[in-house]
Amino acid sequence: LSPQRWLVGVLHLFYGIIARRPVVGGNWKCNPDSMSKLDGLIANINDCDTSQCDVYFCPSPLHVAYCSDKTTNGAKCTPQNCNFTGCGAYTGEMAVEQMKDLGLSQVLIGHSERRGEFGIFPMDDNNSLATKLKYIQDAGMSCVYCIGEPLSIREKGLEAVLAEMHVQLTPIYSLLDPSSVVIAYEPVWAIGTGVTATPEDAQATHKGIRDLIAKHASAETAEAIRIQYGGSANAANAPDLSAQPDIDGFLVGGASLKPEFKEIVAAISKAKA
Ligand code: PEP
Repeated sequence: LSPQRWLVGVLHLFYGIIARRPVVGGNWKCNPDSMSKLDGLIANINDCDTSQCDVYFCPSPLHVAYCSDKTTNGAKCTPQNCNFTGCGAYTGEMAVEQMKDLGLSQVLIGHSERRGEFGIFPMDDNNSLATKLKYIQDAGMSCVYCIGEPLSIREKGLEAVLAEMHVQLTPIYSLLDPSSVVIAYEPVWAIGTGVTATPEDAQATHKGIRDLIAKHASAETAEAIRIQYGGSANAANAPDLSAQPDIDGFLVGGASLKPEFKEIVAAISKAKA
């Protein structure tokens, strides 16, 4: 039992529900097309009020080193992927050891664009991602771990969605330490499409994921772990989504490249204050 986990257990015992600090991330994906645009994007991140919300941003691999020490408000530069082998003969890969050397403490894994939605081949699956998560934790880093269902499963209803979430979570239930893992629930059909899950649908899925974690990890873990929503989140829909009790933040793609990103951070900060 890690000291953080022990503390969460004790707090849970004495005070009941623990408030979860909101967390918002910006996924820049394979953007921008020129380093000359990075300072502008970093300014959007530095404009965020982080007094009541954790903020992170995910630059493309080529831009991570440049961005690694540029924030002024504690926002964490968070690479979009890592390997599970460390440094060595792994062409095209990025190692957590290299990230730590840059002063980074967090990495994102499991984005649907790396689970096959990218269209080339599945670069990650549930088992390789669990291996990566263990490697990240053993290296003393924290992780944003993405899960989510494709449209074909959503069309079958909530039960089918949660069955798929159980499949994706099964290899990592035992690794779900709220002090080192944030879950980003991102329905694949909502990513980059402009179609956002309704607040009610998103809440129902987040609650279902939390219930799965309570059943297969522990009630304390489920209560403390933060679950972000991702999928066409923006300044306009963030207030209603933020009002949902099991939505603890956002993973934002397109809108993280715009000045409105700070409004998303403000919306969830206000809703959870
Ligand atoms: C994402 O890339 O994780 C994402 C949610 O993208 P968008 O906000 O553009 O849908």
